[in-house]
Formats: sequence, structure tokens, C-alpha cells
Amino acid sequence: MHKLGFHASITGGIHKSVDRANQLSVDAFQIFLGSPRSWEHKDPEADFINKFRENMKTSSIDNVVCHLSYLPNPSSSDDLIISQTKNALTQQMDNSDKLDIDYLVIHIGSHRGKGVDKGINNVVSMMDFAISKSSKVKLLLETSAGSKNSVGSKFDEIGRIIDNVSDPSKIGVCFDTCHVFAAGYDLRNEEEVHKTLSVFDDYVGLDKLKVLHLNDSKGPLGSARDRHEHIGLGHIGEDGFAALLKYKRLNNLPAIIETPVNEIRGNRENLDLLLKLMN
Ligand SMILES: [Zn+2]
Ligand SMILES: [Zn+2]
Repeated sequence: MHKLGFHASITGGIHKSVDRANQLSVDAFQIFLGSPRSWEHKDPEADFINKFRENMKTSSIDNVVCHLSYLPNPSSSDDLIISQTKNALTQQMDNSDKLDIDYLVIHIGSHRGKGVDKGINNVVSMMDFAISKSSKVKLLLETSAGSKNSVGSKFDEIGRIIDNVSDPSKIGVCFDTCHVFAAGYDLRNEEEVHKTLSVFDDYVGLDKLKVLHLNDSKGPLGSARDRHEHIGLGHIGEDGFAALLKYKRLNNLPAIIETPVNEIRGNRENLDLLLKLMN
């Protein structure tokens, strides 16, 4: 059984995210440590860190995932962006450690026209920098949707990054269904899900897959569009999610939805549907 969860808000203090997760009785949840669109976060107050840890102790939640903010770009060749990315990574790794967070999900980013090989080298250097910090939180590279100049939408690119870092055991992968599908890997039925996962296994290794992001896709297969849709209402569809959730070699993973919350459905409705598809 995967540990289903959602992205919880930290409005009112980081510890409030645990309350929100408990309210939906999930087994896992994901947070940002501050505004995802700012370079630097205010460090959480010591009091809130303590409350977070206390709240976690009394809850039945197994895993907390942190999502790195959006501005850091590990694929960049620009000196200023590189140093800002290092600062943001360092701060968010430190705070993840203080909160006992298990995983830090990182967008691989864009090479901005410098070419995918250069981009991959830049990501390797940035991951080596992160590994050198000896932080407890496990670093996960997220599969990209394949927009122009992006790195990491092809499984072989992710495999090349991991193979070339100083310690590959320190880097895992977050598999986002919407991004993978937008990048051109079919997930619409059992046969296609098995095919896609076997390609992933060949280039990266299924043992590297530590977190699932379960999002349906507003764009069709190969559209390169990062637009999330409610489970089953996008181009992937229920059959694909059922096949993915039942795939034997992926078990007990934190599986986080990042689906819209609107008049059609909220988080609990998407989680209930996934529970039904998993059983
Ligand atoms: Zn994601
Ligand atoms: Zn996305």
C-alpha cells in the first residue's frame, strides 16, 4: 500500500501543516518551507519547529516530503543563479533536517539554451555540492514535463545525472505522472504503464524511485505541458493510475497529489478515488 497524501499549506506556521494532514487522515504529506516563488525563506521559528515535531509524534503520518522552492535551477550555467541555488538548497536542506523531513524534491530545471549535456554537467555539480553538505534529508530529482530547454524529461538524462554524481546512493527520484506523460511516456493503461516503468528501470532503476507525484494531465501525451488535472479527469485516466498503484515493484511509497482544489473536487475526493483504484 502506498502512503497517500497531498500538498499541505504552511499558512499560520510550519506546524499547522501537520494539523491539516491529520484532518484529512493521510499517511504522508508535502510542504514548501516558505513561498515557492522567493529565493530566500524566513527560517521557521524554533517554537514552530518544536510544535511541528510534537504534532508529528502524535500523528500516524509516516512520511513528510519537502518540495524545494521553484526559483533554484540546478541546470543553470549562470554564476549568479548557481550561487543563489546553492544558498536556497543549503537553507532548505538545513531546515528539512531540523524538521526531520524524509525527502527534498528538486526540479532539475532548464539549461536555457546551453544544451542538455552542459545542463546535465551543471546538475551533477550542484548535486555534488548538496551531497557534500551531509544533510540527513534525501535529495530527489523530479521528472520534468519537457518544456523548451528543460533537463530531466527523458529518463536517460536522469540516469546520467545520478551515474555521474560523487555518491549515487544519495540521490533518488520523484516520479510525477503528469510530467512523465507530458514528456511522452504513456501511462494510460496497464500495458503502457508497465512499458514506461521498464524504460525507467533500464535507465534509472526502480530502486531509485522514492516518491510518486500523482497528478492527471490537462495536456495530451507528449504535450510537454505541466498542467495538473484531477485524478481520472485528464488524459491519463483512471486505468493508468490503477495500473501504476498496483505495480508490485513499487510498494509503500509516499504518493502525493498536487491536483487542483476547486468546485469540481478537493483533495479528499482525489485521495478517495486513488484509494479505490489501489484496492
Ligand atoms: Zn510534482
Ligand atoms: Zn507539475
